[in-house]
Amino acid sequence: MHNSSNIRLAISDYLINIIKENPSIPTYLLKKDEQNGFSLIYVNDAASFIFQPVEQSLLEDVLNQILALLVSNQRYEFHQNISFTIQNKLYIYDVAIILLEDGIETIYGVTMYDRTNDEKEKNVLKGYKDKYLSLFNNNLDPIISICENGNILDINIMTSKMLGYDPKVLLGQPIEQLIEENSMRNFQLMMKQTLSGYATEMQTCLILHVKGHYLPMYLKAMPLETNSNVSGLHLVLRDIAEVSDDQEQLYYLAYHDHLTGLWNRRALKEHLRDTLMNAVQDSEISIVRIDLDRFKLINESLGYNYGDELLKKIADRLGLYIDKSNNLYRQSGDEFVFIINGKSRDETSEFAENILIELSKPLYLDHQEYFVTASIGISMFPYDGKKMDELLIKADQALFVAKDRGRAHYRYYQEHMNLAFPNDALMESHLRRAIEKEEFSIHYQPQVNLVTGEINSFEALLRWNNRKFGYVSPMNFIPIAEESGMIMQIGDWVLEEVCKQLKYWQEKGYRPVRIAVNISPKQFIQDNFARKIHGKIQKYEISPSSLEVEITESAMTDMQDTFTTLKELKDIGVIISIDDFGTGYSSLSYLKKYPIDIIKIDQSFIKDMELDDKNAAIATTIIQLAHSLGMEVIAEGVEKDRQVEILKSANCQKAQGYLFSKPVPIERINESYMQHENP
Ligand code: C2E
Ligand code: MG
Ligand code: MG
Repeated sequence: MHNSSNIRLAISDYLINIIKENPSIPTYLLKKDEQNGFSLIYVNDAASFIFQPVEQSLLEDVLNQILALLVSNQRYEFHQNISFTIQNKLYIYDVAIILLEDGIETIYGVTMYDRTNDEKEKNVLKGYKDKYLSLFNNNLDPIISICENGNILDINIMTSKMLGYDPKVLLGQPIEQLIEENSMRNFQLMMKQTLSGYATEMQTCLILHVKGHYLPMYLKAMPLETNSNVSGLHLVLRDIAEVSDDQEQLYYLAYHDHLTGLWNRRALKEHLRDTLMNAVQDSEISIVRIDLDRFKLINESLGYNYGDELLKKIADRLGLYIDKSNNLYRQSGDEFVFIINGKSRDETSEFAENILIELSKPLYLDHQEYFVTASIGISMFPYDGKKMDELLIKADQALFVAKDRGRAHYRYYQEHMNLAFPNDALMESHLRRAIEKEEFSIHYQPQVNLVTGEINSFEALLRWNNRKFGYVSPMNFIPIAEESGMIMQIGDWVLEEVCKQLKYWQEKGYRPVRIAVNISPKQFIQDNFARKIHGKIQKYEISPSSLEVEITESAMTDMQDTFTTLKELKDIGVIISIDDFGTGYSSLSYLKKYPIDIIKIDQSFIKDMELDDKNAAIATTIIQLAHSLGMEVIAEGVEKDRQVEILKSANCQKAQGYLFSKPVPIERINESYMQHENP
């Protein structure tokens, strides 16, 4: 009976081990019989104790479960959970089954480890986890969980939606990647505070969208606790525009431009001050000031609502260029500023070029195509200065010069620009005294007949030579004169001077010539404008047709008033021209209703017309249409022979531009064009 003694040895080893381990562990021995049935050959006290309060049938039920396990598992050793209820109470046991001998008799040792409480805990935890997960996943606010060293543990669905990331891309990545540089300091502070166990918040944090622009967000940080240790934090993000708390709103409004959502001038100053303060030895910081060219015209001719819509679109475009190294601000009306940190001059130039290209792409409003260009002025820390105001002013001076020298390009600040006015307010106060201090003069630019080469008309262009700041471009001071209303007096002064000049020539007996005077929209819409002109003509006894008034399309917003004034002027006998034609969004067919004599094609269409077929085609079309409506055409800004050829072949009568002559002082006009005529 070798076998039976072997079995006994195995059984006693097994039981001794179990008892050593814990005598209270329920243990059974089961013997398999020939018919594949099992009989119970041993039950310890602990096992019989489990089932003590219940009837025999339940014990059988449990045993049957165990037997079923044995039948289905043809293995020597295995574990499996079983569960049963006794008097409404759920019990869970981990059943370990061991084959003790596989000789003639087959005995299984069965031990049951009570897992009821463990399993319950697990279930409770799982319940919590499910609840937490549904709170996390289905939350309407974006939530990002990060561990204490700042790596992303999880993001919820809203985060993916709002920021556009595939969760896979972000998991395990440092959160820093998503935080804009200027927000970083406060972010780290908030993280520190939260890891110490307190929920904190951050009013505005710029978070990187997958497309590369930043979204201003309100952040709430809550400690992420596991086993009562803070092991990370949850960040709840909220679109700042939706944050309703007054305090947050006020903060937001204080630092943001409400039209475009960009940072405002106040934020610009604070951020720039911070950036400069933190600048280290070899930091390079660029201030890039962007001003839209002739935006006033858009506002005046399309109305402020349209102007605003365009500004928003432009802000969106510029917004594409925000990245970790820079920030975008709306400085005022149509002026935007980038502060770029850590980019070289070459990189900044490339940046400025890209901005110019971006802005020159057509914009669409109500299916209508608009074109906008911008001028850019740049100053750089530490080369142009170390103080905030100084750098801002110098970028502005560079912008002044860019505007003055033909717009639509960028310029870096250079020492000699220093003479320009540091700010508009100071310019305005000097402008107020310009007439009495005799700082104004008029230059005249000849208009050349392209067929005959004759010159018998000139455009009067105002010049201001300020005692302190030197020569100031009309492109800079005319807008200020217009805003402050001083343009009325200044315009009067120009008209007076021009009429005096015509009178002088007339008295000298020179050949009859005509002078064109630029009229600001404000002057034109005065009730008594035509009467004023008439008054001057009578005062100096000049021929009405020797005076030409240049009006821009933006002056002609009210059709009836425009018509009335133009009719009065026509009756007086002065010549009427439309200046900068093509930039004011009115059409020729609209203009044909008015008694207009001359169309002046804006320089922007002439510039590069020899290279750009589109410009040439626009200019040619304007010329043909103007002719068909009985108007004369003058091309402005002609600088190249090739442009003259194109204009000639399109039958353009007249041109003015540097190719023939710059605007020059009256003495030069007298010498070159008047002396030898009609003695
Ligand atoms: P505008 O009436 O369109 O005058 C033409 C501008 O083009 C002038 O600039 C002239 O110097 C410049 N110009 C002429 N030929 C060329 C050329 O070949 N190439 C380039 N790049 N530019 C050329 P300026 O004198 O600086 O005047 C700028 C603007 O200031 C004028 O534009 C006009 O709108 C305004 N302005 C000038 N004088 C007066 C004035 O007495 N009253 C008013 N209300 N506005 C004035
Ligand atoms: Mg003009
Ligand atoms: Mg013009």
